[in-house]
Amino acid sequence: MAAEFEIIDVTPRDGLQNEPIIFSIEEKLQLISRSIETGISRIEVASFVNPKKVPQMANPEELLDELSTKKRASYSGLVLNERGFSRALDSECDEITFVIVASDEFSLKNQGMTTAQSIEYISELLKNKEKGIKVCISIAAAFGCPFEGEVKPSRVIEIAEKCLDLCPDEISLADTIGVAVPKDIKEKVGPLISLYSNTPVRLHLHNTRNTAISNAWTAFELGVKRFDASFGGIGGCPFAPNATGNVAIEDLVYLFERSGFDTGVDLDASIKVAEWLRTQVKHPLPSALLAAGDFKV
Ligand code: ZN
Repeated sequence: MAAEFEIIDVTPRDGLQNEPIIFSIEEKLQLISRSIETGISRIEVASFVNPKKVPQMANPEELLDELSTKKRASYSGLVLNERGFSRALDSECDEITFVIVASDEFSLKNQGMTTAQSIEYISELLKNKEKGIKVCISIAAAFGCPFEGEVKPSRVIEIAEKCLDLCPDEISLADTIGVAVPKDIKEKVGPLISLYSNTPVRLHLHNTRNTAISNAWTAFELGVKRFDASFGGIGGCPFAPNATGNVAIEDLVYLFERSGFDTGVDLDASIKVAEWLRTQVKHPLPSALLAAGDFKV
């Protein structure tokens, strides 16, 4: 594992979830294997949701069973409710990510409960947590809500404070709709790091408005060393059908490696995975490094 710097590959979950094409278990295994070969050691591979609602995420148990036969990375799954939690606990999942939506309106639409109710609900679920499985709490729409608009820093920190009682192994802020700018990162991530002085802070950035890479750098300067990203920047945004996706792994790797930091991920290999992925999904992918010519770092 790279020295305290982690890029968490969310391609198999956030990336594929927005694709019209459905990857088979075999194709997902290929994608995950290629990801690991670049040096990635944490991968979000599953979402324990109703396959009728999200067919791209069907059979996470089968995928995790296959992955567990050769343990080469730490695999995480997204959990939204009690059913998903018990499925995750029964699976070969190494990590669980719980989602708490920062605005009430979005939370009601997404989880069927307010933000405060959602924290209470997860708190009850976690009483049955098994030892060994790591828990990340992700505060979604932390930088802006598709329905309510701005989400104030005080609101995000208030939610994060309540989540302290859940004792997560990691706390994450998600720019779900890709609206954040570096000023927002300073206002929200800075206080979060102080609040969670003993817990790693993770960031989930979407590049919807082309600000993800500058946000990542700002967060890194504040001390964040864990970033979600996807190959080719695949991922999209459920509220903006034509928007770009997650910040691209290869773009992050380029930024940090050329700045002298070890990401643990090979740049050329990550570009090759993005190229391969582009042929699989049969449409262009938005990452900058995919379009850029050769330049040795
Ligand atoms: Zn996302």
